[in-house]
Amino acid sequence: MPSYVVGHKTPDTDSIVSAIALSYLKNQIGEEVVPVRQGVITPETNFILETFKMEEPILKNTFAGENIYIVDYSDRALAPDDLDDATVLGIVDHHKLGDITTSAPLECWIRPVGCSNTIIKEMYDYHKVDIPKNIAGIMMCAILSDTVIFKSPTCTPIDIAAVEELAAIAEIEDFKALAIEMFKVKSAVEGTPVRDLVLRDFKDFVMSGNKVGVGQLEAVDGSVFEAIKTDLMADLNALKAEGERHSMILLLTDIMKEGSEILIVSDDETLVERAFGVTPEDNKAWLEGVLSRKKQIIPQLEKALS
Ligand code: MN
Ligand code: MN
Repeated sequence: MPSYVVGHKTPDTDSIVSAIALSYLKNQIGEEVVPVRQGVITPETNFILETFKMEEPILKNTFAGENIYIVDYSDRALAPDDLDDATVLGIVDHHKLGDITTSAPLECWIRPVGCSNTIIKEMYDYHKVDIPKNIAGIMMCAILSDTVIFKSPTCTPIDIAAVEELAAIAEIEDFKALAIEMFKVKSAVEGTPVRDLVLRDFKDFVMSGNKVGVGQLEAVDGSVFEAIKTDLMADLNALKAEGERHSMILLLTDIMKEGSEILIVSDDETLVERAFGVTPEDNKAWLEGVLSRKKQIIPQLEKALS
């Protein structure tokens, strides 16, 4: 019976690539492991998999009675619904420690770096396993995506060194050019239903008993969001009601301007002011220098709600 590697719900590139890269490593060291995903892949992930001619992992949402590795999260809210009926063999992650607990000993690789694939690269080195060219390529892209081409405050020198090594293995000379191309794919909003955009990179958090949904859209040029902002706001209102949430937040990140506009609908009218020190107008505020949800948004919200 194989084990599975599964990233978080509404999978991003890091979750998908981590599942593929960790499965390959585990298979090389004698474990039968299959990469899976909990949802549809994003256009960005699709672009990366096509660029390096890789298949997407199969969709799998139930794991009762099975062994799983968890990658790119440790929060129950992001895990499969029947997590309690599965055995967690290990966690590889770079977020704050979540609330997943286990009843058996497990392997844990949790580090404060910019991307789970940076840690998986360290695991390959630890086990002295060569990374195939195509897997090195997608791992490199995952790190460039999570670190916003090294601009995110979550990026560390370890991430940059990992990208350089992976680029050499993948024989990609200009990895920054490829990353810009990747972010241009990510920036495309035209023709995509608003609901899909809001939920593309979306996570629910529980903060002092309050359910807070936080999505993020990144664009090389944030002006692409102008035409759809009213529709996005309307959908935030709808999602807040549908999910019985305390707050619904969407970050519109402008990579070139190096900041994010926060759109918020909340039961708590002064939340943005307490968390970020700015007063929103029409439920919107510009957050200068804010690129990282995990480092510059979530801890501040948690503190403001505590
Ligand atoms: Mn992720
Ligand atoms: Mn990640």
